[in-house]
Amino acid sequence: MVKVRFAPSPTGFLHIGGLRTALYNYLFAKKLGGSMVLRIEDTDQNRLVEGAIEGLINSMNWVGIHHDEGPFINNDKIDQRGEKGPYIQSQRLLIYKKYIERLIENGWAYYCFCSKDRLEELREEQKAKGEFSKYDGHCRELSKKEVEEKINKGLEYVIRLKLPQNRIVEFDDIIRGHIKVNTEDLDDQVLIKSDGYPTYHFAVVVDDHLMGITHIIRGEEWLPSTPKHVLLYEGFGWESPKYVHLPNILNQDGKKLSKRHGDVAVEDFIKKGYLPEALVNYIALLGWSPGKDEEILSMEELIELFDLERVNKSGAVFDVNKLKWMNGHYIRGATTERITQLSIPYLLDSGYITKEDIENRYDWIEMMVESLKDKISILSEIPERAELFFKDEIIFENQECEKILQGEQIPILVEALKEKIASTKDLNPQAARDIFKEIQKEKGIKGKNLFMPVRIMLTGQMQGPDLMKIITVLGKESILNRLDNLKK
Ligand code: GLU
Repeated sequence: MVKVRFAPSPTGFLHIGGLRTALYNYLFAKKLGGSMVLRIEDTDQNRLVEGAIEGLINSMNWVGIHHDEGPFINNDKIDQRGEKGPYIQSQRLLIYKKYIERLIENGWAYYCFCSKDRLEELREEQKAKGEFSKYDGHCRELSKKEVEEKINKGLEYVIRLKLPQNRIVEFDDIIRGHIKVNTEDLDDQVLIKSDGYPTYHFAVVVDDHLMGITHIIRGEEWLPSTPKHVLLYEGFGWESPKYVHLPNILNQDGKKLSKRHGDVAVEDFIKKGYLPEALVNYIALLGWSPGKDEEILSMEELIELFDLERVNKSGAVFDVNKLKWMNGHYIRGATTERITQLSIPYLLDSGYITKEDIENRYDWIEMMVESLKDKISILSEIPERAELFFKDEIIFENQECEKILQGEQIPILVEALKEKIASTKDLNPQAARDIFKEIQKEKGIKGKNLFMPVRIMLTGQMQGPDLMKIITVLGKESILNRLDNLKK
């Protein structure tokens, strides 16, 4: 059975790239009826960020990527579930200790006592000669006795991978095909650091094996590390999982996407008011194509269509405008009820509504959101769009507006409108339509000469939400105020 893992380091927020890795793992596992592990790779204790594990899990939950084993959040606490745990690497140190001993016995790893100064000198020398910087094997052949003596003396050490010399390492990558690397181009990688913690390379191999991972789906930046991992599997006598290295996500200039180019963390997108289904849909298409024209795909459809064979080798460009467009599409398709709920925090924040309004005039808020829903691409645009309902003082967006309101028939239109609005009991979209019909019949003002001036009088803008909805949301008092202000 297929088993995959998403193995983030808790060094900050979940980024778009990490989200895509998690998503592809999830889609692949779900499609094949497999399972997914979430493993926290926190062996670099200097880079830990408080709250990052919780943040990662919350972001995954928000988009709907559900792992089967690993840490979960239960009553605000981290709770691990699954038979292969713990799933947080810093809690697995005894396991690594046991396995590194095995590797030393097999002759695949060795103690290295070289000081930082010596290593620094070596690096400088190699640099001066224009050589690839790697460990020179100084401690490779120390005898067991020598090692014991040095340890007893209290010398600091690391444990390194003992690479076979001048050997071709080969492996297959499902996207990139057959890959060959000579061990001369690799380094005797540190496996256990002087603080006793394993490095990523060692922990990842031990854990993937012990957790029964069948497919490793991860970012392309890990491709150069894979030959070392393949050798570690050989050293242990374990079967290597299958490898898949996903293409980089690039910004519009073709450089690797990073914080400098704007929002990259899932939390930023949540704050801006993206819908989870839009983010998932868009991210799924960053480096993979469904093999048909349809771009709007639900999680279920993505699971059904997903196929590693259709993942690209070359980088995928992150286009925030395309994401916005897709989000707008999902907002338009969502129920007004849901969009109202999601918009309320933004409206509260902007001060346009209060908590009391939510209790006393929820229907009105919903009506307002309904009128704006088709006009926004992200929820954080709601306050800016809603502004027109809260300012009875009209500011014309351009001179054209003023010109239109200088038309001959305008005074007649204003008077007729005032009279009809004032005498209408229940101002709703149908009543608004009827008012326009009557004015048309009675005053002979038609089409563009009728609707555009009214829109401008009420909003100061030539475009915007449906006019009948605007009238309904504004209500009598506000409309009459606005028409009165106009004269001054
Ligand atoms: N901990 C690594 C990361 O943060 C995981 C790499 C892997 O998936 O092997 O990306």
